[in-house]
Amino acid sequence: MNIRSKLPNTGTTIFTVMSKMAQEFEAINLSQGFPGFGADPNLLNLVEKYTSAGYNQYAPMSGIEALRMNLAKKTAHCYGYLPDYEDEVTITSGATEALFASICAVLRPGDEALILEPAYDSYEAAIILNGGVPIHIPLNKEDFSVDWERVKSSISFKTKLIVINTPHNPTGYVWSEKDMQSLKEIIRDRNIFVVSDEVYEHIIFDGRKHLSLMGDEELREKSFVCGSFGKTFHVTGWKVGYCIAPKELTVEFRKIHQFLTFSTVTPIQYALAEYMENPKHYLAIPTFYEKKRNLFLEGLKKTELKFSATQGSFFQTVSYGHLSQKGDKQLAEDMCKELKVACIPVSSFYHDSTDNQFIRFCFAKEEQELEEALHRLLRLEEIL
Ligand code: PMP
Ligand code: GLN
Repeated sequence: MNIRSKLPNTGTTIFTVMSKMAQEFEAINLSQGFPGFGADPNLLNLVEKYTSAGYNQYAPMSGIEALRMNLAKKTAHCYGYLPDYEDEVTITSGATEALFASICAVLRPGDEALILEPAYDSYEAAIILNGGVPIHIPLNKEDFSVDWERVKSSISFKTKLIVINTPHNPTGYVWSEKDMQSLKEIIRDRNIFVVSDEVYEHIIFDGRKHLSLMGDEELREKSFVCGSFGKTFHVTGWKVGYCIAPKELTVEFRKIHQFLTFSTVTPIQYALAEYMENPKHYLAIPTFYEKKRNLFLEGLKKTELKFSATQGSFFQTVSYGHLSQKGDKQLAEDMCKELKVACIPVSSFYHDSTDNQFIRFCFAKEEQELEEALHRLLRLEEIL
């Protein structure tokens, strides 16, 4: 038997590799992005409530009504548009599924899809598995903003899709009004869809406001907006996400969703629906994470690493090229083994492993753990 790989250039994701290495070398794990603290006990109690009450069979294919309804209300509250929870909102098994099903819904073999690099790893794989051709556009080196001239010149008659991500993983860049305008102008009058990865919508700093594509009438007509309850409520392991898209797009999206997973875990949908009734639960998230970011940055200032404060997400990317010639993968490995702090080499977010000597830390951890990691990083020069 001979299997011809559909993803010949793909290995195990860097998040799995680094988390495993962190475990093996008993390092503090600031690599894979997940909170190092528990969720609100009130949310956990709600799961108990619904599992005990017998909400344990298949949920409706598109998600339970209460969760779709509350998500639609949250969207209206935050972005000024009330999606139709019957026809435009679908609950998925993580944002990963939402991203895959969105890409699958629009791409045909040979279609081109634009990806802004560095990029989260699932976009490229989803494009290739659907026969699409990824076109990679590097973000500006200085501040990771979007090079709109480059985007414009990369569009061809084959372009069917652009994947965007704000707040951005791994750089923390947050889109401005100008970015929204540029996107709008470039795809106006063209048959180009947008998959908008907004999983860090509530993790945003310094008074910034997340600009969802849901908030713009022209853009939302062409967009699949994907989100994750895992990120917002500190429960990444529950793998519950969503996709909001106009009715015609949602019809196609659901055809795929129903054969990928059919439906999403039932009692957790009920728990999330009830928990979301209180807007404080998501409105308090920026302040909660900003405190952690600030603590982490204060500590980083005592090292020689270079960085600008992340604008959103729970990641801080730092540069070390002025200190060492070492490749970022080697540095991440040495940091894990010798300093006992695990991070992610940012070259993993490029299809061709472009190494600009950046590494990414996740600061979604208890203060004590962050302080210990920062203390260990003071010995950085030993591994440069
Ligand atoms: N997009 C980005 C940018 C992410 O960082 C993640 C992280 N896990 C995901 C999508 C996937 O989210 P989920 O865990 O809900 O599938
Ligand atoms: N999104 C997380 C990160 O960027 C990881 C999720 C995963 O392991 N696939 O670190």
